[in-house]
Amino acid sequence: MSSTDNTPADKLATRAADEFRGLYGAAPEGVWAAPGRANLIGEHTDYNDGFALPFALPQRTRVAAARRTDGTLRLHSADVPSGVLTLRVADLDPAHPPQPPHGWARYPAGAVWALIDADLPVGPRGGADLHIRSDVPTGAGLSSSAALEVAAALALTELYGIPLARPELAALARRAENAYVGVPCGVMDQMASACATDGHALHLDTRDLRQQHIPFDCAAAGLRLLVIDTRVQHDLADGAYAERRASCHAAAAALGLPALRDLPYAELDRALGRLGDPALRRRVRHVVTENERVVRVEELLRAGRLREAGPLLTEGHASLRDDYEVSCPELDLAVATARAAGAYGARMTGGGFGGSALALIDADAEPAVTRAVTEAFARAGYRPPRITAAEPSAGAHRVL
Ligand code: ADP
Ligand code: MG
Repeated sequence: MSSTDNTPADKLATRAADEFRGLYGAAPEGVWAAPGRANLIGEHTDYNDGFALPFALPQRTRVAAARRTDGTLRLHSADVPSGVLTLRVADLDPAHPPQPPHGWARYPAGAVWALIDADLPVGPRGGADLHIRSDVPTGAGLSSSAALEVAAALALTELYGIPLARPELAALARRAENAYVGVPCGVMDQMASACATDGHALHLDTRDLRQQHIPFDCAAAGLRLLVIDTRVQHDLADGAYAERRASCHAAAAALGLPALRDLPYAELDRALGRLGDPALRRRVRHVVTENERVVRVEELLRAGRLREAGPLLTEGHASLRDDYEVSCPELDLAVATARAAGAYGARMTGGGFGGSALALIDADAEPAVTRAVTEAFARAGYRPPRITAAEPSAGAHRVL
């Protein structure tokens, strides 16, 4: 899967290559790109061994790269004003990751560390110069972090001729985020960025990383997916994520199951009766009904009945808002307004407490829905949302 991009010229990749030359004094050996992602359905399921159905966004992170022979890693991002950071590959250590103003460098440095830690021959004599340029918005719940990790890991493995299947690449990129950056995310984001294909959603079984590419051609069906970036991120996010994760694992243990994935939808009510804590019951109900929604949405996509997936997206939002309690007023307003303006369905996407919502709409409704959501945010006194249309796009690949 090291095919070169044959879609219209990637201007940002060319720009990244030019900038690389200016920074490091020689041309890069190549430019690699990995996309951000949105999740169509299947939220907070990936740490429950469950299902998810993400797709790759057209926005991607480009990494221009070249090998070095002196064990040095040089990192630069056009998107953060922090200059070039120089590290020794042999010194990469999760206990001492790069600090501000180079905190962002933990993501690509973590990718290099994860490769080396897996005994893949990138160092210690090797090394690389990397320059990053991206149009994935950061902190918008669209996984700019996974895009950066996956693009860096792909660049390194291809430069050093290391054959690595995409799910393994994704698992290493996730390890970078968990163990080196210190964010306890599941594997969905990296899998979507590494493995998704153009015009498809990625059906992901997070237990064994098995994946299927489900046709999801919105344009052909006269539909459009709107990504509504609320541009807020509430402080609750980190602690709540850890708490939800712990609750799920506690509930599975109480029910004698390896993971909540092992609780069939048909047995949900009986299982809920065995859990005393009402909050725990709500968390379990979200996870089990959400897995079921992934299965149903996948069936509808396969049958070409895209519009009918809308109500399941909206149900998913209600479940995240009421049972899992990870939404926020801005996301709820985006979803309610998009629906009132004619969306077939809408939901928050990503971990929650801010970030982005997704709305499935008729292609010609885009101006009306965009206007309605923008006006509703203005009336509520919120920052103007950033609203873009997203076609399911290609996963990580070499661009130049
Ligand atoms: P999300 O993944 O939802 O965008 P995260 O907080 O997980 O949000 O990751 C965002 C962080 O990833 C940024 O704060 C920055 O440290 C790093 N990052 C992402 N993209 C880039 C980039 N193009 N250049 C430098 N750092 C980046
Ligand atoms: Mg992230």
